[in-house]
Amino acid sequence: MSIAENLKDIRSKIAKAATAWSRDADDVNLVAVSKRQPQDKLQAALDAGHRLFGENRVQEAQEHWAALKPNYPDMRLHLIGPLQTNKIKEALDLFDMIETVDREKLARKLGEEMKTRGTSTPCLIQVNTGEEPQKAGITPHELPAFLTFCVQECGLDIRGLMCIPPVDDPPVLHFAMLKKLAAQHDLKDLSMGMSSDFEKAIPLNATYVRVGSAIFGNREY
Ligand SMILES: *Cc1c(COP(=O)(O)O)cnc(C)c1O
Repeated sequence: MSIAENLKDIRSKIAKAATAWSRDADDVNLVAVSKRQPQDKLQAALDAGHRLFGENRVQEAQEHWAALKPNYPDMRLHLIGPLQTNKIKEALDLFDMIETVDREKLARKLGEEMKTRGTSTPCLIQVNTGEEPQKAGITPHELPAFLTFCVQECGLDIRGLMCIPPVDDPPVLHFAMLKKLAAQHDLKDLSMGMSSDFEKAIPLNATYVRVGSAIFGNREY
């Protein structure tokens, strides 16, 4: 199938799941994850009218989008991978949302740079719902204090939470945990669900699903 057909297929699956769970399909935003995909596939998604994309590395995102993005003023780009503090300026130049705020140093430096610029890029906090040692993110029990720190000390505009469930666990356990944490803190946005499980995230209130290979095919390494 073409990229246009894949996008159509995924949008219709989102709409179906949203309807089944009495949600407005417009509240479920499809983040097309374009990491390690060739430029012609990105262009095909743009030509099909898609405007929301995700990248997990700042430098690759610059290579993919720095020249292209200005041609599509309604395009939005989310950072969905770890952000090093020495890349904050480049990240804020390019991204419209940082989904991966995951530690105090990053939160503080993001807040300082936005204050200098007089801008406020919306952010999500990445939660390590599986408490995996090798994975980025705040543990669920650290979240209340970290959220307060981000908002009150750093002045960040925290819209919600993001998670990447452990590969061996049923993802719905983690989606449910993220939903519960968001409700406890009155946060609206939830970024969860990928190619293999995005439909399962919709009943649990995902507002962003991050889908790569189901749109673009297998990635280049
Ligand atoms: C690569 C990636 C995705 C997309 O994964 P697919 O399985 O190709 O849909 C989603 N979220 C994050 C954080 C990623 O790094």
